[in-house]
Amino acid sequence: MTLYPADRLATAQKAAREAGIDALLLTPGADLRYLTGYHAHATERLTCLVLPAQGDPLLVVPVLERPMVTASPAAALGLDVVGWAETDDPYAVVAAHLHSALGRAAQRVAVGNRAWAEQVLRLQDALEDVDLGLAGPVLREMRMHKSPAEVEALRRAGQAIDRVHARMGEWLRPERTEREVGRDIAAAILAEGHVSADFTIVGSGPNGASPHHELSDRRIEYGDVVVVDIGGTTAEGYCSDNTRTYVCGGRAPAEVAEYYAVLLAAQQAATAAVAPGVTPHEVDAAARDVIAAGGYGEFFIHRTGHGIGLEGHEEPYIVAGNAEPLREGMAFSIEPGIYLPGRHGARIEDIVVCTADGAEVLNLVDRGLRVLAAS
Ligand code: ZN
Ligand code: ZN
Repeated sequence: MTLYPADRLATAQKAAREAGIDALLLTPGADLRYLTGYHAHATERLTCLVLPAQGDPLLVVPVLERPMVTASPAAALGLDVVGWAETDDPYAVVAAHLHSALGRAAQRVAVGNRAWAEQVLRLQDALEDVDLGLAGPVLREMRMHKSPAEVEALRRAGQAIDRVHARMGEWLRPERTEREVGRDIAAAILAEGHVSADFTIVGSGPNGASPHHELSDRRIEYGDVVVVDIGGTTAEGYCSDNTRTYVCGGRAPAEVAEYYAVLLAAQQAATAAVAPGVTPHEVDAAARDVIAAGGYGEFFIHRTGHGIGLEGHEEPYIVAGNAEPLREGMAFSIEPGIYLPGRHGARIEDIVVCTADGAEVLNLVDRGLRVLAAS
């Protein structure tokens, strides 16, 4: 069960042919890593996988980074690698390889969705008269459908972030600032087996009503309701993302306890709705209907979830209007929230995988409104 199997390059070439695209050009990022296992650094020096619709792929890298390719899973693929020296023109290397692989000038070429504009424009110059599009639509089928090895990697990431939440009482205490708490959480995310702590949201009191609030110097007060949404990336490349809501000493305010019960029921309803053939629209509605029936509909101001894998946010998006049915192997978050502006808020988030039997929930840490001891 290999995480980065060798057949993905050929599968992507087939998808490109079916889309009528001559080649994919992939600079550092999740698409490149997905296809080759190479976790490249994005810098001003060009790294680019040249994947013609037919013919041999070529990985163009700065010569000083060649040892990193050799040390990565990409070395097992038998992929041709060319290292360009500081005074070479790597864009000309890309263009020349593409011309020789196709036996003609490339007409339609797709670049990675998150490629840097400065590199895309230089590729466009080097490829003269080329029609540029996005690689995302070509690769989305592959990326959305997680292999058993990918699900296992997401499971490990989920268990690691669960362990961080289980320790929250060590750090989340009155008198400390959100930033101090966030620093401790980030250190724990690394200690529990991630290579990066990608985000630490500690939304205390009124900040909890701002879903993407990150950290501030606000001092947490006794009895505050605190939304903690955290995640990182493991060495294997897979992401975690998990939200729990806490009460910092004392007891939950009655109003919060009331809407938290609604929120928990909504999160459970959406999770129970997951099955192959069900649409993301329907999963979103399963959560939204419960919150609306509870009287808090106007306070649930974002979609129910997002896909996750090599990127923290990727397809499929669990949002109203998305009518593309779920299939086995899709991995995504279920994260409804209720936010009362200027006062407080709550969110419950798990990562789930769609299986033949419904959702496999990858985050198992207690979903209740946990009251932490204040001292
Ligand atoms: Zn999250
Ligand atoms: Zn999320």
